[in-house]
Amino acid sequence: MDITTRLNDINNRIANGLKAGQRENEEVLLVAVTKNQDVTSIQKVIDNGIIHIGENRVQELIKKYDEIKGAKWHFIGYLQRNKVKYIIDKVYMIHSLDRLPLAKEINKQAAKLNRIMPVLVQINIAKEATKSGLAYEEAVEFIEGLKDYPYLRVMGLMTIAPLVDNPEKVRPYFKQMKALFDQLKGKNFPHTDIKYLSMGMTNDYEVAISEGSNLVRVGRAIFT
Ligand SMILES: *Cc1c(COP(=O)(O)O)cnc(C)c1O
Repeated sequence: MDITTRLNDINNRIANGLKAGQRENEEVLLVAVTKNQDVTSIQKVIDNGIIHIGENRVQELIKKYDEIKGAKWHFIGYLQRNKVKYIIDKVYMIHSLDRLPLAKEINKQAAKLNRIMPVLVQINIAKEATKSGLAYEEAVEFIEGLKDYPYLRVMGLMTIAPLVDNPEKVRPYFKQMKALFDQLKGKNFPHTDIKYLSMGMTNDYEVAISEGSNLVRVGRAIFT
């Protein structure tokens, strides 16, 4: 199968997920996760109209950034403070804000460019020791505290569900994330514009969408 066929298949499954969640009139943003993929394959995805591209490593993003035209870059991996300065002028959104010192650094670097940086707050929904992200219970207070960083704009939440054999097993986590997302919207904090619920990867994006995700980060289903 080529990339075009696989993207069609993914679009069908996105539609199925929306239908299952009775959200037929809503939209889902597909971010193609291109870690370990070469420039030619990434360019094919962009030529197919998928311009939102996700990378989880700073070095790799910077290298590809210069070679690829027409992409909107999403940073989706763990972000070290000392690397923020390398991506601040390149990325459309950072999905992995998970601690105050990082917020402070993003704010500082964004201020230098006089740019307001869109960010998502990462939640470790299953409280896995191996994953970064805030606990569910800490999220609202953390986000409220981000008002002290005027060069950030909180656009929503991101999570990575546990890897399981059957994606139905993680449905309860997606439900919890949707509830938190709605709670945050209701708070209407002025420094936020709660729009994106970034959840769902190759193994579980259809289930995630049926529970309310509107941004999925898909790698393997596109490239392998
Ligand atoms: C790799 C990665 C993805 C994509 O995972 P696939 O299983 O290849 O779809 C999504 N989000 C993050 C944070 C990743 O690192």
